Amino acid sequence: MKDVAIIGCGVIGAAMAYTLSKYQLDITVLEKHSDVASGTTKANSAIIHAGYDPQPNTLMAKLNVEGNLMAGEIAEKLSVPFRRVGSLVLALSEAELPHIQELYRRGLANGVPGITLLSREETLKKEPNLTDTVCGSLWAPSAGIIDPWEYATAMAETAVVNGVDLRLNTKVESITAQADSFVIHTNRGDVQARYLVSAAGVDAAAVRSMLETPSYQIMPSRGEYYLLDRSEGQVVGSVVFQCPNELGKGVLVSPTVHGNLIVGPNAVPAEGAEDNKVTADGLAFVAAAAKRSVPGLNLGANIRNFAGVRANSDQDAFRIERSERYPHLVDLAGIKSPGLSAAPAIAFYAAKLLLEAGLELVAKEHFVDRREKIRFASLSDEERAALIARDPTYGRVICRCQTITEGEILAALRSPIPPRSINAIKRRTGAGMGRCQGGFCSPRVHELIVRELGIDPLDVCLEDEGSELLVGETKTGGAL
Ligand SMILES: Cc1cc2nc3c(=O)[nH]c(=O)nc-3n(C[C@H](O)[C@H](O)[C@H](O)COP(=O)(O)OP(=O)(O)OC[C@H]3O[C@@H](n4cnc5c(N)ncnc54)[C@H](O)[C@@H]3O)c2cc1C
Repeated sequence: MKDVAIIGCGVIGAAMAYTLSKYQLDITVLEKHSDVASGTTKANSAIIHAGYDPQPNTLMAKLNVEGNLMAGEIAEKLSVPFRRVGSLVLALSEAELPHIQELYRRGLANGVPGITLLSREETLKKEPNLTDTVCGSLWAPSAGIIDPWEYATAMAETAVVNGVDLRLNTKVESITAQADSFVIHTNRGDVQARYLVSAAGVDAAAVRSMLETPSYQIMPSRGEYYLLDRSEGQVVGSVVFQCPNELGKGVLVSPTVHGNLIVGPNAVPAEGAEDNKVTADGLAFVAAAAKRSVPGLNLGANIRNFAGVRANSDQDAFRIERSERYPHLVDLAGIKSPGLSAAPAIAFYAAKLLLEAGLELVAKEHFVDRREKIRFASLSDEERAALIARDPTYGRVICRCQTITEGEILAALRSPIPPRSINAIKRRTGAGMGRCQGGFCSPRVHELIVRELGIDPLDVCLEDEGSELLVGETKTGGAL
């Protein structure tokens, strides 16, 4: 019998596994996709919010500000790309000035460090490419940009290194409550655990319904984006928001840790976790809104559009709770934005709920809290030469757009959670994320997966099972 089972391995399940792996516990994580971070965690704005947005004295405000601080420490220890570039909320008219003043008051009440109201001139000095009709802004230096899937993967990998049993392609189908445990029925057999944490994102209510009727409803909301080429990555230096409204934090323009420019999202009702389509109307809305902040945006440099689905609930709050009927069940539901920012603080808070429920938290004597990663593109010439002399696979560039080497892909394939699909390699290494979007490197990545994992070329998928890239072999023996 396991001590704890965690359902879902997005950033919340990963943070939960990472936090609990510090203790002497037998933990399993059940994830239905073929890789971690494959739900909302892979498609969002990638901002570690400062924490001026949530209403003061709410759990969301507390966890946002704490999570922001923790993100810096975790990113440093686990080698996750993270930069505190700061954020601006623009007042695009005189009428919006009271909005940013209100956010400023909230930020002070929430304990957000360093927030300041800037005049029009100060705003334009910081970001010269903004519209010159801007009337002022709120500046929050603690906001940052992060690689969201690497953040989740790094925490999940560290959990695995510290003994957590991660089961991918494992979908929870039903749950039976017993006197002292839960039996979790999956497509790959049963798992029994004394404590259960649900971190199922948009599917939170569906999972909770396997045991009892949830007191909340998930109302999924889709957000669509443009991702611009690295040629546009310097257009703004910080995260540029507009005033938030009832639909969310509004359309932003922001640099990414990979050097691109991200523009979006809108907010439209979605049918579920998989409803991540991109529509012409959605993109037209995003384009028009973003140009109000940065009129000269070059959307012609777009290299990809994508959409993510928010796990909004029927209340403007995270729905983090211990079940009254099943006190050993902790439900992490309604984790909409700023869920990415708050993730490690949510996990810490949830660990306290488990402790209150009777779970013993005895610290491990040896907890590995470090993760190293080589990023060839960011090394100096001398460092590159030394690395290639040590391991010639770092001398073979596989992804030309992002300068990702064979050595980095092999390191990923030998990592604690080996990627098995083209997209999982992309999330681990960045291969395929550049201007050609994998047109050049995908076949070579495919070859490396086959060689390293010893699997049939026909079984390599773009993402989950069912997305196989090749369908058969030619008469001369090559795969089609
Ligand atoms: C458009 C958009 C923009 C956003 N921008 C930001 C931002 O800039 N900053 C920020 O802080 N937050 C942002 N967010 C919110 C943030 O992305 C989420 O709060 C966070 O990713 C939620 O993580 P999660 O682990 O709860 O969900 P997910 O990442 O969706 O993970 C849930 C996991 O549970 C698994 N699962 C579900 N059901 C089952 C089952 N039955 N069996 C097994 N596994 C199951 C799923 O496969 C999935 O992997 C944004 C969200 C969206 C959509």
